[in-house]
Amino acid sequence: MQMRSMSEFAERYVFDHLPVFTQNLFVSMAGQQRFRNRFSDHFHATLEKWQKTIDGPEALLVEIQRERLHRMVTRAREHSPYYKDLPEPSGAADAREAIAETLANMPVLEKTTYRQNTEDIIARDIPSRSLRRGMTSGTTGTALRLFYTRETEAEEYATVWRLREQLGVGLFDPHYTFTGKIVVPVTQTRPPFWRTNRYNNQTLFSLYHMSPENLELYVDKLHETDAVYANGYPSALHLMAREMLTKGTTLTRGQLRAIFTSSESLLSFQRDDIEEAFGARIWDRYGSAEFAVSMTGCSERNLHVDMEYCIVEVETIEETDDWERGQLLVTGLANNATPFIRYRIGDVGTRSKHPCPCGRPGNVFLDVDGRVEDFVVTPSGRMIGRMDHIFKSMEHVEEAQILQTTPEEIEVVFVPGPKFDRVTEAKLRREIRTRLGDEIGVRLQPVREIVREPNGKFRAVKSTIGKLDS
Ligand SMILES: [Zn+2]
Repeated sequence: MQMRSMSEFAERYVFDHLPVFTQNLFVSMAGQQRFRNRFSDHFHATLEKWQKTIDGPEALLVEIQRERLHRMVTRAREHSPYYKDLPEPSGAADAREAIAETLANMPVLEKTTYRQNTEDIIARDIPSRSLRRGMTSGTTGTALRLFYTRETEAEEYATVWRLREQLGVGLFDPHYTFTGKIVVPVTQTRPPFWRTNRYNNQTLFSLYHMSPENLELYVDKLHETDAVYANGYPSALHLMAREMLTKGTTLTRGQLRAIFTSSESLLSFQRDDIEEAFGARIWDRYGSAEFAVSMTGCSERNLHVDMEYCIVEVETIEETDDWERGQLLVTGLANNATPFIRYRIGDVGTRSKHPCPCGRPGNVFLDVDGRVEDFVVTPSGRMIGRMDHIFKSMEHVEEAQILQTTPEEIEVVFVPGPKFDRVTEAKLRREIRTRLGDEIGVRLQPVREIVREPNGKFRAVKSTIGKLDS
């Protein structure tokens, strides 16, 4: 763990001190490697198969779910010590009934339970060299260690690309990216605030330099770069949209075929501004670092469950004749390394009780929220979202929250784990500096517990100055 973060730190240091054209070369090489990993033979085979099932019929989708759930539960009993006493999957003749029966016999998996039993949940029949590793911050800033395989990733990308290909977007089409990847050193104060991956024609914009003065340069770059689509976090695309709408520098309608958002709740005012400024429709997506759930947007602005990939249950706390709302329990069907069965992912969703007017069959959600994030604002006016990413790699921090009441300083309150020490503290400071630079004061405040909101929700960032007015 420590070794890996040290080598990442070293790589970061070397990268930051290279000239821009060499950084672009590295970004292109990394892009090529990423592309080859993701878009494997298994990806293409799955894409072809799932392009045929996206339109149903629904009975076929339910049959696929039953078959994959059966296989997963059987494997979990055999290869995951934590699940060795699970009851056998139901043998009911009706697929829908069999799924309901099988799931009813399974315990709900809480994040804390997963965290405490990770080693025993990972499937033992996947060789260590085939395991890919990740981290997520969860809903409470708690770091979870995640395991998946190349096949899992390929299947997730199959859900993403079957939608994109339907919209006429191809794998090598030029595009703009606004995601949390640090592509430009944060200490850099002059443009360019973007890098180019020539392998698959991607222009990656830095989310860490979006100050009011710099935004105009970002917009100029959008106008001078040909692109077919854009993807990224709603919060970042919305900053761009506001700049373009204020200055009257919007993109020509129809230049982009689509905009793909993910990773944060897409708020309705964000959607309106982004679609107007970028001149294209947004297709939102809901997924998770656990590879346990996937929903993709439709023309009716709803989210369809990718039924071949997961099963989503709702713990209903509120309902009408038209919808039911509650916490989501997700069962991943594609993660062969980690059986996430009835996993409480920490998000709340509203499931429609009617078929979607767009015609795509299967479960459909009107919205999934619980992912609304605040921004941190630096003294120079840069607005930085998704600060919870910092805690993804912090195993010895139980919970953490960022508070900001003045532009000069943030306070990081955190619950230290038993193994928290100076090394962890230094790492925490480094992670914060990597995103915020040196211009802002950082106060670390260890606490016993972090207070929840009146509605019981935990917020990773609470700012009284970073909130965007709607
Ligand atoms: Zn729909």
